[in-house]
Amino acid sequence: MSGQLFISLLNPGIGVLLSVAFLLLWRHRRDQHYLLLAAWSYAAMAAGFLIQDLVPALPHELQRLPSNLAFLATGCLLVAATIGRYDLPVPWRTLAMLSTVATAIFLWFLLAMPSITGRILTISIGLGLIAAQIPLALRRAPRAHLIDHILFWVGVLSAANFLIRPLLIVALTGGFANYDGFQQSVYWTTVQFSQAMISVIFALSLMVAAAIDLTAELRQQAESDELSGLLNRRGFEAAAGRAVRACADDGRAAALLIADLDDFKAVNDTYGHAVGDAIIAAFGAHARATAPAGTIAGRIGGEEFALLLPGTAIEAARALAETIRTGLAAACTDRLPAGLRPTVSIGLAVAVPGAGLSRLMREADQALYAAKRAGRDRVRTFTPAAIDDPRIAAAS
Ligand code: GH3
Ligand code: MG
Ligand code: MG
Repeated sequence: MSGQLFISLLNPGIGVLLSVAFLLLWRHRRDQHYLLLAAWSYAAMAAGFLIQDLVPALPHELQRLPSNLAFLATGCLLVAATIGRYDLPVPWRTLAMLSTVATAIFLWFLLAMPSITGRILTISIGLGLIAAQIPLALRRAPRAHLIDHILFWVGVLSAANFLIRPLLIVALTGGFANYDGFQQSVYWTTVQFSQAMISVIFALSLMVAAAIDLTAELRQQAESDELSGLLNRRGFEAAAGRAVRACADDGRAAALLIADLDDFKAVNDTYGHAVGDAIIAAFGAHARATAPAGTIAGRIGGEEFALLLPGTAIEAARALAETIRTGLAAACTDRLPAGLRPTVSIGLAVAVPGAGLSRLMREADQALYAAKRAGRDRVRTFTPAAIDDPRIAAAS
């Protein structure tokens, strides 16, 4: 009997530990509601197994009701947690409907036509249909990481476990006459072990998913600039470096614009820092709205921006630079004091075969310098001769 006792303690123990683990995770990530749902799910699981095996809650057969309600709640909450991680709508009505129907049939097999086998099949198939909501909901969600595939297939495995196992065992053993047989039965032992396994796999998958989400979020924060909504210098250099290499490998063109707001110190001094910030934010929105999809845009300095255009040749890049330059004032008007018309100078360079991002940035920077020298509020393109010869530079 003591061996049986330890097996009976397995699931409540796992449930309590995982519930606490999810609760601790949730305390640090309160915006992630799915972690709280998972904590509740494992608490319900612990309660269900405790009531079922160790702590009678109601007299006689009736005590089967609370434990099985707890199992249904466990399933529904874990389904909600998994689907919730994807910000997809949780099918609460379907879950409630499945739980209600399963409970009604369970009560029928408890009170009207007592049958242990009937109750086992009812709850197990109910839980299988509940678990099946995971693959149903996730089948169209993008699976960016391996963990997304794992969560999907853990849902399938869990549903299959609930749907197939009871049918198999009832077919093999011919059902259960009473609870004395049940508690020691192969069936209940397989429930305890497979449930322990699936609970741990589910929890680990959700926790790995939470860790991956957090890493991605931190990386995104570390590489983006809040004021402009663009990448910051570090994020820009990482993404643009990759894009330049990819273009070189595929033999595609790539162009780089470096834009610097004109006389920005004077803007700050005259209108205040907040107005300067509003222009930086407006430039970020303007660049995002104007640049084609696939552009990598970053704020690489205080009032300096870079746009890498993969697959774009010089003429299209120059046209885009002109659109950005001429559209800036209009893009800012509703945020600025009357009379202030911000301008921007832009330097442009195209990638030559074999050269990396740093050379491209140096060349675009030289072109930007030429634009500033030529009087600001203009676009200049890097050409080795033109930069050296002021007459050609003025004409380009
Ligand atoms: P130029 O036309 O030659 O670029 O002149 P400039 O005044 O824009 O150039 P300079 O590099 O001398 O000054 C840049 C100014 O940009 C100085 C700084 O006060 C301002 N600046 C840098 N970062 C920010 C920011 O985040 N917010 C605001 N409001 N101003 C900033
Ligand atoms: Mg400037
Ligand atoms: Mg500057």
